[in-house]
This record gives sequence, C-alpha cells and structure tokens, in this order.
Amino acid sequence: MQRAEQHKPRIAVSACLLGQPVRFDGGHKRDRFVTDQLSRLVEFQPVCPEMEAGLGVPRPTIQLRRIAGQVRLVQSNDASVDLTERMTGIAVARARQLNGRVSGLIVQKKSPSCGMERVPVSNGPGKPSERNGVGLFVQHFSRHAPLIPIEEEGRLNDPLLRENFLERVYSLDRWYRLEPDDLRGFIEFHAQHKLLLMARGSEAYRRLGRIVAGVERRTLAERRHCYIELFMQTLKSRVTRGHHYNVLQHIMGYFKRHLSAEDKRELVQLFDDYKAALVPLATPVMLISHHLRKHPDAYLESQHYLKPYPDALALRAVV
Ligand code: SF4
Repeated sequence: MQRAEQHKPRIAVSACLLGQPVRFDGGHKRDRFVTDQLSRLVEFQPVCPEMEAGLGVPRPTIQLRRIAGQVRLVQSNDASVDLTERMTGIAVARARQLNGRVSGLIVQKKSPSCGMERVPVSNGPGKPSERNGVGLFVQHFSRHAPLIPIEEEGRLNDPLLRENFLERVYSLDRWYRLEPDDLRGFIEFHAQHKLLLMARGSEAYRRLGRIVAGVERRTLAERRHCYIELFMQTLKSRVTRGHHYNVLQHIMGYFKRHLSAEDKRELVQLFDDYKAALVPLATPVMLISHHLRKHPDAYLESQHYLKPYPDALALRAVV
C-alpha cells in the first residue's frame, strides 16, 4: 500500500495565509502552521477570491450586509457597490475547477469572502452587527464542492480539529487516486479505512459496507457517489478518547496471542493511561507499531487508522 508520505495531497489556501500581499491594504496574514509545517507535506493551490474578482490592491474594504432581508456582499462605505453575483460566480467556477483536484481548503477567518463561520454581518451604519455570517466565497464553494473539507486557520490551532481536518484531507486524497471503474480498489479502500470509521462508531461503517456490497443493486458509479458522501460526512464527527480506546482494544485482539503476559499488561496499562488522558494517542499507537514490526499482520498494517497522515505532523502527540 502507498503510504501517505509518498504522495503530497493538494490543498487550496487563502492566499493571504501563505504570506501573499493580497489583503485590502496590501498586507498578508501569514500562518506559521500552514507555511512552516504543512508546506513540507502538501502542495498548495493559493486562492484569493477578492483578487480574482478584480478588486486589486489596495482596495476599499467589503462586508456582508443585510439588505431587504438578504445578506449581500457590498463595499463597506458604499452599499451600492454590490459584489454578490460576481463573488458567487467566482466561487462556483473555483469549486468546479478544484473539485477532484484539491482535498482540502484552508481559509482566513472573519473575512466576508473567505470566513467559514461567525463572520460579521452588518445591519447598516449605526446598527449593531451580527456574528453569524459565512464568507460568500466559502458559502458557494462548499455548496458546489461538498466533499472538500474546509477549515479556518484559527480553528486549526485546536489539535483535535487539526487532526480531524487532516484525516479528512488525506482520506479524500486517497479516494481521488482510485480509478472510477476499480471495484477491487473501492472494496479495499473501505477495508483499509475500517478502523478510522469504527472510531466514529460501527453503524456508519456497516452502512458504508452495504453501499460497497451493492445491496441496493445500484451501479458502481452510484455506489461510489453515495459512499464518498457518507464517508466524508462520517469522518467529520469528532472522535472521543472512549472511541479511540475501543479501537485500540480491537487492534490488540489481532496480535495479543503473540505477546508475552508482560507485553500485554504494558499495552493495557497504556490504553488505560490514554483513556485517563495521562498520555497522548501517539504513545499506545507507537507501542502497537513496535509490536507490529515484530509480529507483522497484513490487515492491521493496511489500516490508515495507525498512520492517517505523515508522522512529521506529530498531531497525535497532543491529542
Ligand atoms: S481573506 Fe480571502 S479574499 Fe481576503 S485577502 Fe485573504 S485570500 Fe483574499
């Protein structure tokens, strides 16, 4: 199996996060995690919807504003300059262009174009704003490319959200690399993600299994379409320590007959320590990997759960 680090997924990124001077005032919002860590492991596709809209640098600021019951994207100091349709068109075109080509999108928070949540929506001069908007570009991009995971750079400082986002990015990238008519590859994809899915509960894994098996007698193309929608939706859910604990015990069941009583005790103790939040997930996973090297097991070695993204990200050292 081709491991994650041998191939670089492509991620679209708000260009200002990459340090490009594309903000309204000619500045940028360089993000260290993106430029210093992620840049070594993925290919970036910079995107600046406001530059693509021809607004140039410097430019007047724009905002989301509620006008006649609708949220519009307008120039802050002159609401008659309405960019809603232009930005919508750019988002739809970018979604069509990047769907199937990028496996993630990282955006700048609070931007009326790129923000993912809690973007200020003005109610007009002198009236209080609401903080419940979604940047217009992201809103339409996600509608037209719903499989592509999207995160804000600020939320990626949360280790759990960061891990969840990258699990989805690397999984979607693996999906992209499957040939559409490769039934065997489809079946293997499902099998190799079993533990990653089981960490979200066994029901979704079973439902996905029924889709792969073609129980509803749909064509392969239809099955693939339903499958990846549900798969990506399932990976979105947060995984608790309890879920990981169950998966770790499941893994141990595969090779415990090869372990000495002392090795078993040590593993069980580490699982308990992990459940009690005394050690990060990386600790029991490292010991499992050590035992797997001594007692190889093809099924476990194929599981992306043990290595969902390159070790260099070291995300599980903190979750
Ligand atoms: S937030 Fe989006 S639109 Fe604004 S400068 Fe950055 S990339 Fe461009």
